[in-house]
Amino acid sequence: MRWTQTFIPTLKETPAEAEIASHQLLLRAGLVRKVSGGLYTFLPLGVRVLRKIERIVREEMDRAGALEVSMPCLQPPELWQQSGRYTTAAEVLYHVFDRAKKEWVLSPTAEEVITHLAAGELGSYRQLPKNFYQIGIKFRDEIRPRFGLMRAREFLMKDAYSFDVSDAAAQVSYEKMYRAYARIFARCGLRTFPVEADTGVIGGSLSHEFMVPAETGENEVVYCETGTYAANIEKATSRGPRLPTPQQSTGPAPEKFSTPGVVTIEALAAAPYSVPAHHQIKTLVYLLDSQPTLVLLRGDDQLNEAKLLARTGAARARPATPEECKATLGAHPGSLGAVRATLRRPVRVLADLALRGAAGMATGANEDGFHLRHVDLARDVVVDQWADLRTVQAGELDVATGQPLKIRRAIEVGHVFKLGTKYSEKLNACFLDETGQRQPAVMGCYGIGITRTLQAIIEQQHDRDGILWPLTTAPYAVCLTPLNVAPDSAPMRLAEQLYAELTARGVEVLLDDRDERPGVKFKDADLVGFPLRVNLGEKALARGEIELKPRGGTLTPVKIEAAREAILEWLRAESARLEATVPPA
Ligand code: ATP
Ligand code: MG
Repeated sequence: MRWTQTFIPTLKETPAEAEIASHQLLLRAGLVRKVSGGLYTFLPLGVRVLRKIERIVREEMDRAGALEVSMPCLQPPELWQQSGRYTTAAEVLYHVFDRAKKEWVLSPTAEEVITHLAAGELGSYRQLPKNFYQIGIKFRDEIRPRFGLMRAREFLMKDAYSFDVSDAAAQVSYEKMYRAYARIFARCGLRTFPVEADTGVIGGSLSHEFMVPAETGENEVVYCETGTYAANIEKATSRGPRLPTPQQSTGPAPEKFSTPGVVTIEALAAAPYSVPAHHQIKTLVYLLDSQPTLVLLRGDDQLNEAKLLARTGAARARPATPEECKATLGAHPGSLGAVRATLRRPVRVLADLALRGAAGMATGANEDGFHLRHVDLARDVVVDQWADLRTVQAGELDVATGQPLKIRRAIEVGHVFKLGTKYSEKLNACFLDETGQRQPAVMGCYGIGITRTLQAIIEQQHDRDGILWPLTTAPYAVCLTPLNVAPDSAPMRLAEQLYAELTARGVEVLLDDRDERPGVKFKDADLVGFPLRVNLGEKALARGEIELKPRGGTLTPVKIEAAREAILEWLRAESARLEATVPPA
């Protein structure tokens, strides 16, 4: 391809709309343009990168035995009602209405449609296992679309769904996808690491996310430097808080004391009260599927809402408003507590495991401006359910190794789930086993955000000048840069020759035939980030040389006669270097 014949609208200035480097570079390198918040048009270079990622994904899915299908984006709401997700996934669903005012939903994912297919088609154990995948557009009504392709309203996803006869067989399917994912990201030139994940609204028993470490990531990952533990903070556990929970009773019964204006843990920790945060009980009021519930944590802990949902099985949770708190407990946030004697009526109480055995604690008295001290949890509070509800903090110890845990931010690019029979039961995807018994298929589901992956590569691999595309996902492998583009000039003649020879060998070459100053051409090539730039300048040619400039590497002069071979050799070596990072299938 010639630069003048394609469309690469690079930008000198950083667009104000883009907050993070990868989003800025997507726009500056002319890969995409914004249509509206969370909606983008892919330009020719952007499409080339997308197709390359898709191709790697297809090859690895096919290698793992998955079968490509294509499902509609427009889906009947009835299927979503049948699975229960019409309500539980309501926030992300886009609804559309046809001329007869009939409602449809736009697919945010496709468990319902594929399970419906399996229900109709997979009737016998002989047909299993099966794994179906597609690469298609997904729609999600995100609360906050942002960071370009990272969190869009419409994005490209690879989604796969496996159907097996048993849990053990489903585990095998899961592990195949897990390995395929590791290969896919490595082949894309993206460094990822798998972490244990919460199964969230999708449900299921086992799940991993593939994460790209990045300060701009929207996920927090808890990990141990021994490399033996990594988990999404929504799921992570530890040996518990660093400071021990007091277990010594300080009095025979709770005692009320006046705390005018004190409505935070910090205020009660400060003079004149001086009750350390970990000697306090934090009382939160949540509506779990609209049932008011008290959630108790240690004062220095934060609630993990994902755990709250996972442990209680509730579909939705939201904090009660101050008015709802007042109606439930008779006081406002900051003065709430679960001490039996202060409750006007029974209310469900959940307590975090870090509060086990807690004694001599302080908590709200359910009367504005008052707290209680000498609270012993076992004596004074009726706990309906104990559960791990707290968010792990950096420095706590890993359960297995006892080493301190760290926390870092990351971008989720892929997600694998063992689903079990949740969807097959609801949508009736059953098969007859060897003994003629009807059984629900055991499912797994596996997603990769193709467009998010594209941007994650940029986020991980860029410098001040622009993108550093890995060879496998670059829009073009080589940018030939003649510094004189007059058709009969020596640089242009050699460029044309190399262009023809390399193209004939299957190399993807962009010939920068623009009549621009060298500085402009170099800047643009570096901004877009072609893995190899080949400079053809009059002076060097006069010495019998051209120059190879790998993106992010050093300039090497090469004899004209050896130019083609040197370029091919560089590409081979680079390709082998990347290949060496790919784990075995
Ligand atoms: P997130 O937690 O980031 O909202 P998710 O866990 O809801 O994502 P999944 O349902 O696991 O997402 O979807 C599979 C993959 O699709 C994700 O791993 C991610 O790469 C991608 N993805 C999800 N939502 C978006 C989005 N709004 N824009 C772009 N990619 C997305
Ligand atoms: Mg996910």
